[in-house]
Amino acid sequence: MFKRIILCFFVFFSSLNADIVEIERIDEMRHYVIGNNVLCLFDIDDTLIDNPFDLGSPPWRNWVRKKLPQHPDFVFFDALTLYIAKNAPYKAVEPTTARLISDLQENGVTAFGFTARGRSEWYTTKLEGVDRYTHQQLEHVGIDFKRTPMPEELKSLASAYFFNGIIFAKHIAKGDLLKILFKDLHYAPALILFVDDKLEQIKSVEEALKEAGIPFMGFWYRRSEKDRADFNPMATNIQLEYLFGKRILSDAEARELAKVQQDIDPQAYLIDVVLHFADLQQVVPIID
Ligand SMILES: [Mg+2]
Repeated sequence: MFKRIILCFFVFFSSLNADIVEIERIDEMRHYVIGNNVLCLFDIDDTLIDNPFDLGSPPWRNWVRKKLPQHPDFVFFDALTLYIAKNAPYKAVEPTTARLISDLQENGVTAFGFTARGRSEWYTTKLEGVDRYTHQQLEHVGIDFKRTPMPEELKSLASAYFFNGIIFAKHIAKGDLLKILFKDLHYAPALILFVDDKLEQIKSVEEALKEAGIPFMGFWYRRSEKDRADFNPMATNIQLEYLFGKRILSDAEARELAKVQQDIDPQAYLIDVVLHFADLQQVVPIID
């Protein structure tokens, strides 16, 4: 048993390399901001902000993605995730995050949000206003990337991908997007620091910056994932049902109610709930 743990440990760490470290608290990255001309990039979803409960979270998204029915007018997955986001406001993954970002800004460090979202796309649905909405979601937890001082070389950043201090990768791998963005800019930061909950995104940025010869340090931050370790599908069904009734049910409350639904198939229950409320037209992808 002990040997196996050591082996797992070795395989895990050899899969990372020296330029990527795993951090437990987001504030740990501030110790790497040394010298001038450092660019700090922060992933948004499940790094800066996440859902206030398991409903809408990555384990839930993975669970429902292939189970949702087709709808003639919209993509159910996109409509539901947006409905959940709008009716149960996101929280900061850690309460210290807003302070970290404002400290960086006050010290003249270039700190941007760097999201996979598009300015006008919510997952696969074309939707105007996702950029403004993303800005508002961050403002709600005290983060405002608009306050970041802009280096002269970045003032012409392509507006198709940039809004209020946030880079929108439009579902392109983040490393590939940086290559597009930096192609025509004469921008050479001394160091780029990047925090994300997805290792593949960190690796894609590492790869792109290696090619560009820009020093890089990546931070794999899985706090949100770890907080969701005991995902319970039936409890999220109950949370969804309550949310359609405009009530936010905590994970503890929902798990308690799920105990009496143990004989019901969670997938069948999910589809019942979703179709019922779609008929009432509560779920449509709109940003006000
Ligand atoms: Mg993320």
